[in-house]
Amino acid sequence: MTKKWVYTFSEVDKAEEYGGGEWEGVRGFLGGKGANLAEMTRIGIPVPPGFTVTTEACNAYLEAGGTFPEEMWEQEKDALEKVERETGKKFGDTKNPLLVSCRSGAKFSMPGMMDTVLNIGLNDKTAKAIAKLTGDERFVYDAYRRLVQMFGSVVMDMPGEVFEEVLTKARDKAGVETDTELKAEDWKAVTDEFKSIFKRYTNKDFPTDPYEQLKMATEAVFKSWNGKRAIDYRNAAKISHNLGTAVNIQTMVFGNMGDDCATGVALTRNGTTGENQIEGDYLINAQGEDVVAGIRLTEDLRKLKEEMPSIYDEFEQISHRLEKHYRDMQDVEFTVEKGKLWMLQTRDGKRTAQSAVRIAIEMAEDGLITREEAVMRVTPEQVDFFLHPQFDRKTTEAAKDTGNLLATGLNVSPGAAFGVVAFDADLAEAWAKKEGKQVIMVRPETKPDDVHGMLAAQGILTSRGGRTSHAALVARQFGKPAVVGVSELDIDMGRRQMKVKDVVIKEGDWISIDGTSGEVYAGKLETVVPDIKDPLLLKLLTWADEFRRLGVWANADYPSDAQRARDYGAEGIGLCRTEHMFFEAERLPFVQKMIMTDSSSEQREALNALLPFQREDFAGLFRAMDGLPVIIRLIDPPLHEFLPNHVDLIRELADLKLRLQHCGKLEEIDELLSQINTKERILKRVESLSEQNPMLGLRGVRLGIHIPELTIMQVRAIFEASCLVAKEGVDVHPEIMIPLTCHVNELKVQREVLETEAKKVMEKQGIEIDYKFGTMIEIPRAALTADEIAEYASFFSFGTNDLTQTTFGISRDDAEASFLVEYMEKGILPDNPFATIDRNGVGELMKIAVKKGRAIKPDLECGICGEHGGDPQSILLCHELGLTYVSCSPFRVPVARLAAAHAVLREGKTE
Ligand code: PEP
Ligand code: MG
Repeated sequence: MTKKWVYTFSEVDKAEEYGGGEWEGVRGFLGGKGANLAEMTRIGIPVPPGFTVTTEACNAYLEAGGTFPEEMWEQEKDALEKVERETGKKFGDTKNPLLVSCRSGAKFSMPGMMDTVLNIGLNDKTAKAIAKLTGDERFVYDAYRRLVQMFGSVVMDMPGEVFEEVLTKARDKAGVETDTELKAEDWKAVTDEFKSIFKRYTNKDFPTDPYEQLKMATEAVFKSWNGKRAIDYRNAAKISHNLGTAVNIQTMVFGNMGDDCATGVALTRNGTTGENQIEGDYLINAQGEDVVAGIRLTEDLRKLKEEMPSIYDEFEQISHRLEKHYRDMQDVEFTVEKGKLWMLQTRDGKRTAQSAVRIAIEMAEDGLITREEAVMRVTPEQVDFFLHPQFDRKTTEAAKDTGNLLATGLNVSPGAAFGVVAFDADLAEAWAKKEGKQVIMVRPETKPDDVHGMLAAQGILTSRGGRTSHAALVARQFGKPAVVGVSELDIDMGRRQMKVKDVVIKEGDWISIDGTSGEVYAGKLETVVPDIKDPLLLKLLTWADEFRRLGVWANADYPSDAQRARDYGAEGIGLCRTEHMFFEAERLPFVQKMIMTDSSSEQREALNALLPFQREDFAGLFRAMDGLPVIIRLIDPPLHEFLPNHVDLIRELADLKLRLQHCGKLEEIDELLSQINTKERILKRVESLSEQNPMLGLRGVRLGIHIPELTIMQVRAIFEASCLVAKEGVDVHPEIMIPLTCHVNELKVQREVLETEAKKVMEKQGIEIDYKFGTMIEIPRAALTADEIAEYASFFSFGTNDLTQTTFGISRDDAEASFLVEYMEKGILPDNPFATIDRNGVGELMKIAVKKGRAIKPDLECGICGEHGGDPQSILLCHELGLTYVSCSPFRVPVARLAAAHAVLREGKTE
């Protein structure tokens, strides 16, 4: 038997059988929308009858270069016959004609990215029949012109504006402002006009055969899978390109047949705050697209309770039922046709980070989902959002006082953003990507074609649209701050400017938007990073902690960072880069003196001067991390980084010499000569330290071996600080880490220096400090000889920044600004290896190192302190490798806590 390409909504059991009994499988080949329509039908929710053409059919069609697979069309016609029997109507009939919609529906929701055609089945004859049946010519010709319009733009790729122009003229001619005021005659004329434009643009008559309409619409939906906007969206949402879309053909129900009709969209909980209350928009006497497109000002769903109380009750009950059934917040579409409620769609609703957390916690506490599920329902990116910039209250108050608050709209996606105004998506993208500008994309409303601009922008602002508008949905999904429906904005696309009251903002001017409050400001407002004090988020993170096996530590150099890290839940400091402290103004002269001098006594003096600073730094860290481990890494970067820049020195010297030539005063000459002398000495030293490849030169442990006094000073500072705070009662756990080790002998030498100095300090202080000595693994040779190294180290920490650099042979400082971008664009590398650990290369080296290291010391502490420690995908790998902890920036700690829990909860589950 040939394959089954088509399933009616009442055949979900068969679809399940085919999909191996798995709901996910059903979603895969009926698409999310089709699977949910079928599921709603199964549980007895009123859904207009229809059927789904599978994603497999789409893929077969695309693979065959645009030919329907064998028998698919016949099966589609058979399914249509079943729908005819169910509805008692007939497709193309001149007495009681059936009209259908044709919509896309992939496995993962891609709102508005693909095509839809409504009112299929209308032609001059069926239109007359329906007019007779309903006695409502106005409605029929409004529906008819919509079919021609959608068919033209969706199936035949005609520009939407040509139809809009006709509509504007029709309104002007009738002397009305809105489409709803147009009469039957006006719509008839518009339909005729649309048909003639159709012919002009396509060189074909508008197809009157309903079957031809259906066939062409099905094909258009298939093709739209590979449309630009769908591809852009999938790239951004990381949805696979080979899934294909299903096509859903469904009996039309009409929300525009009079005042006992309505159409709307709703979320079963508040998508912005997560509050357990239905929120939505609707319109009386309208078709669904009017609500989503934001063409007409929608009503708040709460008003439906007054206007159609029994419908609202039924709708509310269905919403609760759907939420319980799917065990998640639902995003639903409905239509009321002549007093009868129909559900047209349900899917898991998109939500903000705050809303995701609240819904997950409340559903778990209500017993609807488990705690594990609650933790899995929130993404690491959503947690990250809590740490995103917000406007400071003081700044916004000041902006209000100075009259810079332009307007307030709907706060649909939280967070603060500022940027220059770009009035279209292409410009927004070009400015952001090519010129590195921060952009706010401003549009009357957004359409799926605008997604690339929205992604490139810092934030989105629209003058039209509601909470469920396209702009709101997309912004929320990608965590972009957005304010929509700011009706005071008078956008003039021709002049590329907008006016609010009497303020004119031109393209390129700065504005700031607050997606949390809905406020729009002129100019650039400073942002601040909030603390994560949301109690619900804290609760979710505590739940996550119960599941995770990986420890989460932080990279911190200063006590204030350490304190923040601890507040965010860090369980240790995985990396303190001691050299960062050397750069401070009061210390740098001593560091430079230490580097410059040839005299060992001067060098000792300089180091002695640095010692108290370092001791105080470390003591501060130990106090902040009382009871927790603190890894202090000895100096790492090449010394020339502490000296002035070579080019600057040459220029300054030339300048001094020129001044000398023109100087007449004796005392000034002496001063200039002295300055020249000093600069020349520095220049000589800079030149002697200069290396062709400093990142592969005298740095890391090599430096510690080259200048043992430096190691001694740092070790002394660490142990003096440890003893000091231990005497204060602090529970101190120092771990001393050697950077850039590539041979075990380097470690042997350094360990001896360390042990001698540590012993000296502890004896002098009369305290025994329990400490660890370990190394970074950031050179492939160290990973490959980890067994030898483990003999001398009691911990490893993967420096994946350098390990990536040295494994790939790609400079970590330059590559991301040059060919690496091209590599990713061309798909040569799937991800940026400096952001996500390269599993097969760097990951494999880590695996070897852990295995070899633990073969010598089974409980060897193995962590990671490269930037990858805060990247969710890399955290998953670290979990798989059995690392002890990940260490990341304090701001990533909450993200890492959740990602580490996800790693456990995902075990054994395929995506
Ligand atoms: C690393 O190389 O991953 C590391 C943490 O050290 P740094 O970035 O300081 O070289
Ligand atoms: Mg390094």
